[in-house]
Amino acid sequence: MNVSQDGAMTYARMSRLVSFFSGLLKRKKTVFSNVLHKMASCQPLYQHLDTQNILRLRRKSKMEDGDAVSSVQSQPSLMTPSDFDYLTVIGKGSFGKVLLARHRQHGGYYAIKALHKHTIVKRKEQQHVMVERSVLLKGLQHPFLVGLHFSFQTPNMLYFVLDYVNGGELFYHLQKEGSFPESRAAFYAAEMAMALGYLHSLDIVYRDLKPENILLDNEGHVRLTDFGLCKEGVAVGGIMHTFCGTPEYLAPEVLRGHTYSPAVDWWGLGSVLFEMLYGVPPFYSHSKAEMFEKILHAPLPPLSGVSEAACSLLEGLLERNVSKRLGERRDIVELQEHPFFASIHWDDLLTRKVTPPFVPDVTSPSDVRYIDPEFTLQPLPASVIDRSQEGGASQVFTGFSYMNKCTATGVIS
Ligand code: ATP
Ligand code: MG
Repeated sequence: MNVSQDGAMTYARMSRLVSFFSGLLKRKKTVFSNVLHKMASCQPLYQHLDTQNILRLRRKSKMEDGDAVSSVQSQPSLMTPSDFDYLTVIGKGSFGKVLLARHRQHGGYYAIKALHKHTIVKRKEQQHVMVERSVLLKGLQHPFLVGLHFSFQTPNMLYFVLDYVNGGELFYHLQKEGSFPESRAAFYAAEMAMALGYLHSLDIVYRDLKPENILLDNEGHVRLTDFGLCKEGVAVGGIMHTFCGTPEYLAPEVLRGHTYSPAVDWWGLGSVLFEMLYGVPPFYSHSKAEMFEKILHAPLPPLSGVSEAACSLLEGLLERNVSKRLGERRDIVELQEHPFFASIHWDDLLTRKVTPPFVPDVTSPSDVRYIDPEFTLQPLPASVIDRSQEGGASQVFTGFSYMNKCTATGVIS
């Protein structure tokens, strides 16, 4: 099922377009040498490198990026709602909707997350939104994270322009199949772990690992979205005090209101892995109170029907004593060494060379067949696509507008 105004933008055309602009940039090599460098860092920077090298490189390129980003940010009027045609609703967030949109000039498809400023301010959530923005900027390019291309604002709305990831939510597929075989679960868990390890290396805790934030891209690789609840500035071994998240997947130390660390994400991964293998979260109950109680005190349900390695990984991740939890000390490295992931070739995984166990059946970048009709059947919200509201920053969201250098120079020039 395609949503397209002319229906003609195929993957082949898209990749020709990208090659065309890359060629153009190459011809302007001298002038654009810096841009090319940045583009190289946009595309798999991680190729041929081991994880630790990548993390070091990311830190370095983050520092190099600093100047260039702020020079782009000084032109916040570069994007407006009129630059896009809005095609359909694809999701609902806590402050507004997520829409599939097509850039009018170059035809690229994006997921636009539009947030109502008044709702954010009313709920005193400005900080979360600005955190989401800055996290998206930090996590610019990782193969298993949704990338941010632009952010802009009108007097009433904030807009995030993200990669459109159209293979569906991981748990849409899980629900259809009930549970996944271990090898499939291991593949997704490994890709999620890489994304989480990468965020931790940037002192970011994801915190919100839950079904609807784990998407599959058109090739079947994992992409984590939704950085609204991430906590910045938390080094491995560090602590934070803010409470936020979704009950089913919350780590016990979060529920208790205790200080917590990046290890909350390894608990989250344990919950998601459990659900992939058994079809339900480990401490699920219809009653929220009972679920809280179970997360805090109940023993893990019997781990029958899975391998010894799977049992040991689940026990290691779903360990209430944080100091004993797998990943607490050496983060992702501890997971990478675990027998459950013995078949995973981590370097190949990171460079997307490992063929995913399932390839979504999508025919174009605008295909919405895996999006819940609950969304696609909704009318486009007038507030989001209102073109009379162009421009206009507000003080609380100063500095929100942003244009990804790779997108700006590679496509829109
Ligand atoms: P927040 O917690 O910041 O308020 P949210 O949970 O309200 O975020 P998101 O999770 O970012 O909002 O988005 C809502 C839904 O929209 C997601 O669960 C997902 O189904 C869909 N969605 C979000 N981003 C994308 C994307 N880049 N591509 C495709 N679908 C997406
Ligand atoms: Mg979400």
